[in-house]
Amino acid sequence: MKVSSRVHRMKESSTLAVAARAAALKKEGADIVAFGTGEPDFDTPSNIKDAAIEGLRAGLTKYVATPGTLDARTAVAGKLRDENGIPCKAEHISITAGAKHALYLVLQTLIDPGDEVILPTPAWVSYRPLIELAGGRCVEVAGSMERGFKVLPEELAAAMTPRTAAVILNSPSNPCGITYTPDEIRALCEVIARHPSAVLVSDEIYEKLVYPEIQPGLQHFSPGSLPAMAERTITLNGMSKAFAMTGWRIGYVCAPGSSGFIQELIKLQGQMTNNIPAFFMPAIVEALSPRSASQVEAMRVAFARRAGVVDELVRAVPRFRSVRSTGAFYSFPSIAACKGLTSAGGRAITDAQSFAEALLLEAHVALVPGGDFGECAADHIRITFAAEEALLRKGMARIAEFTGALR
Ligand code: PMP
Ligand code: GLU
Repeated sequence: MKVSSRVHRMKESSTLAVAARAAALKKEGADIVAFGTGEPDFDTPSNIKDAAIEGLRAGLTKYVATPGTLDARTAVAGKLRDENGIPCKAEHISITAGAKHALYLVLQTLIDPGDEVILPTPAWVSYRPLIELAGGRCVEVAGSMERGFKVLPEELAAAMTPRTAAVILNSPSNPCGITYTPDEIRALCEVIARHPSAVLVSDEIYEKLVYPEIQPGLQHFSPGSLPAMAERTITLNGMSKAFAMTGWRIGYVCAPGSSGFIQELIKLQGQMTNNIPAFFMPAIVEALSPRSASQVEAMRVAFARRAGVVDELVRAVPRFRSVRSTGAFYSFPSIAACKGLTSAGGRAITDAQSFAEALLLEAHVALVPGGDFGECAADHIRITFAAEEALLRKGMARIAEFTGALR
């Protein structure tokens, strides 16, 4: 059967591919330690589940407005105003099938063929394919590991042109596990503010996973709260990471101001998916209520502890070099010093891809090789530490043994 060239050209999501492969090997009986997928290992808090169940029982089984019910949009807007300082109202919000769908809708609504989208890398695997699907040109700006993977204002300034339609910022970052400070974000925004036609797409899906335990004083900062950026920033977020709700598929997008952007986006959404399940709407309100805050914080504290444990274990692995994780649940070490060596099982290590393949087959640890996170990331591997400490120690011991045995 015919396949369109734009879909045929598109790469599959390597994060999902690794997850599927690990699951298949586990099913065959292999003792796989899976550090691949970026999803919390915790279950969704029960008050949020109960709200959805009650919604279903109460008959929330019909279509609702495409961007979500007024109650749910009001709850999202209230959260963004109170917690993030973003001046917005319910009418600026659309609730989508995950933040990934929100990103797709934003890029389709924003990009014309040939427009440039600046992507600080290493960056999550889905940005480039979705930029290119929208007809945009992805301009990578590589953050070096020596500077904690962070892109500097002068590097951003050098990449911006009159064709720059958008800059994507993702802090805390997947896959780097780093968090920009408020001052660093302000400095990048000053650069963007000098280009009136460029929009900032701020992907804040990991905002609740910031670790001042590791970098004292560190806190999340939303660029949409800056007056100069308020009407130029599109904020993406969702329930997946903060509330351990990856499987529910709930994200949202906020585009304030009078530009009419959100109405155009909702028009596209109305032709695609329409609303997400109606009985999720009360669950969104419940998740964003103060009743869920202590559970979100308990998960954050657990991730902060794991970040410290994994950081120490990664540093102890022979030949690895890494940056401390201050946010999200990822460590992104360089395996460059392993290149040119051969594994105990006789496999040549030429890049992160071959490293990850040999590690999976010989040491039974699944993780995502860096290549699809950006051109600068081909010698990195992503370790997801969304797992209990005992499993983290078991997997890291396997990685250390595998790497130590390279000759
Ligand atoms: N942005 C980033 C940086 C992510 O890591 C993810 C994880 N899938 C998403 C967006 C999308 O999350 P979801 O679709 O589950 O809301
Ligand atoms: N964002 C997560 C990851 O990077 C989930 C999988 C995906 O959607 O990419 O692993």
